[in-house]
Parts: sequence; C-alpha cells; structure tokens
Amino acid sequence: METTAAFTGLRCTDCDGLFDAGDAPGRCPDCDGILDPAYDYDALDLTRETLSGDEPGLWRYESLMPFPASVAVSLDEGNTPLVEAPTLADELGVGEVYIKDEGRNPTGTFKDRGQAMAMTAAAQHGAETVALATAGNAGQAASAYAANADIDSEVFVPTRASFVNKAMINVHGGEMTVVEGRIGDAGAAYDDAIAENEAWHSVKTFVTPYRHEGKKTMLYETVEQLDWAVPDHVVYPTGGGVGLVGMHKAARELRTLGLTDELPAMWAAQSEGCAPVVDAFESGADEHEPWDQPDTICGGIEIPDPGASPLILDALAESGGGAVATPDDEILEAALTVAETTGIEMGVTCSAATSGAQQLAREEQFDEDDTVVLLNTGAGSKDADVVRSHLMSKGI
Ligand SMILES: *Cc1c(COP(=O)(O)O)cnc(C)c1O
Ligand SMILES: [Zn+2]
Repeated sequence: METTAAFTGLRCTDCDGLFDAGDAPGRCPDCDGILDPAYDYDALDLTRETLSGDEPGLWRYESLMPFPASVAVSLDEGNTPLVEAPTLADELGVGEVYIKDEGRNPTGTFKDRGQAMAMTAAAQHGAETVALATAGNAGQAASAYAANADIDSEVFVPTRASFVNKAMINVHGGEMTVVEGRIGDAGAAYDDAIAENEAWHSVKTFVTPYRHEGKKTMLYETVEQLDWAVPDHVVYPTGGGVGLVGMHKAARELRTLGLTDELPAMWAAQSEGCAPVVDAFESGADEHEPWDQPDTICGGIEIPDPGASPLILDALAESGGGAVATPDDEILEAALTVAETTGIEMGVTCSAATSGAQQLAREEQFDEDDTVVLLNTGAGSKDADVVRSHLMSKGI
C-alpha cells in the first residue's frame, strides 16, 4: 500500500486505537467504531503558499491525504468555483454569501470527492469489487470511479433513487440492485449481500474511512478561494454528515498547522421531513434517535439513521454552529430563488442549505458583516424534474 509521508494510520473515533491502513479496510477492527485518517502534523512544513501543490483537482492537497496523487483513482474532481451571491447576501442581511458549486464535479455532485479517495483506497487494497448502499448520487459516483479503476461495483439503491442516478449506474456498468422502499431498505439488502460476499470492499458512508477525507478538501479550497479569510458560517445540507465532519476536520487541520486562527461555524441543514440531527442538537443529546417516517423530496439527505451523528454533533458544538430544519416547500422555493438570482442550478437537496440559511437569518444567527458559505452539493440539473414540477404546482 502506497501512502503519504505524514499519514500515520487510522485512528478509531471510539476506542482511540491506531491501526495500520493496510490492516483496516473498513470500521475499527477492535470495536467497530468509525476510523479517521491520522497524520503527524508536526512533520509537515506547510505554508499558505505550499498547502496546495501542482497536482490536479483535490489531489493538490496530497500532503494532507493518505494516498499520493501518483496512485490516485481520479476523474479530476474538486477545484470547484466559489460563486458570490450578492442578492442572497442582501436577503440574508449579511456581508457576503458564496455558493461552493459542487455541481461542477465529474458526476455532478461532491460525492465524487469521497469516491475518489475511497476508490483509491480500494485499489490500494487490491479490491476486485466494491459495494455500497446509497440514496443515489454516491452510487453514481462509485460506479463511475470503479469503472475508472477497472473494479466491479455493486450498488444498492432504494426505488426512490432518482432516474438519473439509476440510469448512470447502468451506463457505467455497475451492478445495481433496486430495493423497494427507502435508504434503510437498501441498506438492509446491502448488509445481507455483503455478509455473503466477504471479498466485497465497502465504499459505504463511514464504513470506508476515506469518504470524509476526500470531502474535507472542500474547506481547504473555500479558505484559499477567500484569500485565507475563514468564513463565519458554513451551511451544509446534512444526511450522513460526511461532508460536514470532513470540512470541520479540515478547518481544525488548518488551525493546527498554524495557517488559520478560526473555525467556521458549521450548520447542519435538514428537511423537516427527516431531521434526526436537528432534533438531537436541539435536545442537547450527543447522539441522534432514528427518524421514524422519513419523508422529504430531498433524496440526498433523507437519511433517518445517520450513524456518525456523534461526530456531527461534536463538530456543530465545537465550531459554535448548530442545526436547522425547514419544510420542503420552502426548500423548493429556495432552489428557484438561487436559480433566478444567481444563475446557479442548485440541487433540491442542496437547497435545504439555502432555505436553512434563510431560517437562520430570521433567527438572527448571522451578523451584518458575516460571510456565509452555502454548499451546492449537487447540480440542479440532476433534479430538473422535481424543480420544474414545483413550478407547475404554482401554475407556471
Ligand atoms: C449525499 C448528499 C448529501 C448529504 O451528504 P452527507 O455528507 O452524507 O451528509 C447532500 N447533498 C447531496 C446532493 C448528496 O448527494
Ligand atoms: Zn475502536
């Protein structure tokens, strides 16, 4: 296994054990906890000028990654634009609003960042088949990156997954199992299948230790794009919390390296139809209760049982952020507002971040000179049918 100089192994977020990456392809071998890539930060001599190197896309941060760019499974993901949205800034009553437009990634969502890193790990482990259960976008990304790495993919999606996701999993040559129901049903079918196929290598959320590691680069990029001004707030459409946990880790890393002083306040935005993280945050719990009856048009965040909720809640608390839920009709309206005022095609799931920010503004969580970053985690054109039918519901 080829790894970078500062990478020291995988640290268990539960029992604190440190494991050799070659011995731990998934969860903690001792306690089944979530593993997190660890580094010897003292051994790194990075400056603001040298943080990003010459490699393409997110691989330019290879010194803070487990694997070097030379072995990357990559479709040139990352390096997405940060687009200013002055009309939204006026509406929210803040200094500046920026949209980090992850729709520009190879398969149209930020899932590509996670799968690039997870598939690189799978290749390093010599995997022949990867498997995951997914609401859809991660499955599309996984089948694309698996194709690129000449690895077979087994993708379990619920019937609710979007047509684009299912079609593109087929187009990339992935094996797809469509399971009647929702993400939990797809997860159960995946659990049964992986128990029978021990050679399958999991690239599922917080089973592989690497998806949040790929997604953390969104924060490095954002801070560089803001010329090293750490944004005051980052509002993130939260399902499993992979991106939120990753970005918070990245913010801590920049501070540990002495490159920044502050952490951005991380806000988890969810739909009122499935808001286990918001409920847990508001009740002061350190872990979520599974959501009984998930029901939202935001497929990417319709995650009723986010296993990493303790990590999400820690990130919210440590960064001074919080959690916010808004109803689907406000989320759909927010998608229109962004498309009409900025030109950015914002995914429906992602619009929970915009709508969440509008709610946070009403709650006076923002100051008038604050900088707010909204994550457009996926391209609006992937949800064209949903947004268009919202217009129809308005008689347009
Ligand atoms: C998966 C997904 C999310 C949620 O991601 P997590 O990091 O697991 O919380 C948000 N938006 C879109 C478009 C997604 O596909
Ligand atoms: Zn452990």
